[in-house]
Amino acid sequence: MANVADTRLYDILGVSPSVSENELKKSYRKLAKEYHPDKNPDAGDKFKEISFAYEVLSNPEKKELYDRYGEQGLREGGGPGPGMDDIFSHIFGGGLFGFMDGGRRRNGGRRRGEDMVHPLKVSLEDLYNGKTTKLQLSKNVLCGACNGQGGKAGAVQKCTPCRGRGMRVMIRQLAPGMVQQMQSVCTDCNGEGEVINEKDRCKKCEGHKVSKETKLLEVHVDKGMKHGQKITFTGEADQAPGVEPGDIVLVLQEKEHEDFKREGSDLHMVQRIGLVEALCGFQITITHLDARQLLVKYPTGKVIEPGSIRVVKGEGMPQYRNPFEKGDLYIKFDVQFPDNNWISPEKLNELECLLPARSETPVIAPDAEEVDLTEFDKSQAGGGARREAYNDSSDEEGVHFHIDLAHTS
Ligand SMILES: [Zn+2]
Ligand SMILES: [Zn+2]
Repeated sequence: MANVADTRLYDILGVSPSVSENELKKSYRKLAKEYHPDKNPDAGDKFKEISFAYEVLSNPEKKELYDRYGEQGLREGGGPGPGMDDIFSHIFGGGLFGFMDGGRRRNGGRRRGEDMVHPLKVSLEDLYNGKTTKLQLSKNVLCGACNGQGGKAGAVQKCTPCRGRGMRVMIRQLAPGMVQQMQSVCTDCNGEGEVINEKDRCKKCEGHKVSKETKLLEVHVDKGMKHGQKITFTGEADQAPGVEPGDIVLVLQEKEHEDFKREGSDLHMVQRIGLVEALCGFQITITHLDARQLLVKYPTGKVIEPGSIRVVKGEGMPQYRNPFEKGDLYIKFDVQFPDNNWISPEKLNELECLLPARSETPVIAPDAEEVDLTEFDKSQAGGGARREAYNDSSDEEGVHFHIDLAHTS
């Protein structure tokens, strides 16, 4: 084999053999744009050369062959090198500028199929504990009867009018020396590039080359995964002849939980307690997402103010891939006050003696006007817009305090 110092393909792309992958792509894109047949109909050969050079240099295996043995090595050692047909499918396969998307090509120029994206609903319990679930889906697989050929060996004929490209390129002369190049899907083969006689078609797939199959996927939802996180099954999407199958991508959808609200790795909840608990300490139990019972003790002598928040460290959500590390659990206290006239006036006097002293009685001016304090009815109060804003924010918090001034009269 031969010329070790062959750098022609690098020269075509205007780069040195030590070029980085990124620089290579950049240079290719620039040149491909410049010499694209749409813009530059006379530079068709140059464009093919650029495409060929990039095809080789962007593929690690081919690049290695080329670096070692030059173009001859590509022809000899790399199996059939990318012929012109291959380059055309490369160029015209993905629509205009689709060919620029070099990153989606994993397998030496083979077209890649679409990804199949499905939502997957999961509960907060599933995300806390982790879960393995089975998912059934129907997908296209290459027909087993004809091996994805569509018929017996030899039945498949290359479409003549388009020479197997699936696309026809027409060159129209607009004026002397000025041509327009147009491409359209071949009508004889519907863009398939090949045709099968009706009598030679595979009976099982009727020449479609693929059939539907039910597939059972085992899905592992790991502890600490998040809403919107993706679980990918590489190459499990629909199969089609000559196409590298895309991925099945499941997108997690966290269902709302009745008691807990997640924020990152923290959990938030609202706990109702009575006035006596708020003033005299308490013990409560909370059932966690793994069904464990948490016992929360709050000592006598410490007070919980309505709406205040306390934290239980390390009882939030587990971290993804590090599930022994957990966030925190935030408990917001909703203090329930007693109803009107819950106690006789005499007892109330006794209670008052026990409560912290009143703030000083105000000095009342002789012309002070006495006004009434009435019950507050949300549905009748204020302007409509303001009321809605109030409702919204209280709903969002998930907390409803009923400690309006009116209730204490
Ligand atoms: Zn078949
Ligand atoms: Zn055709």
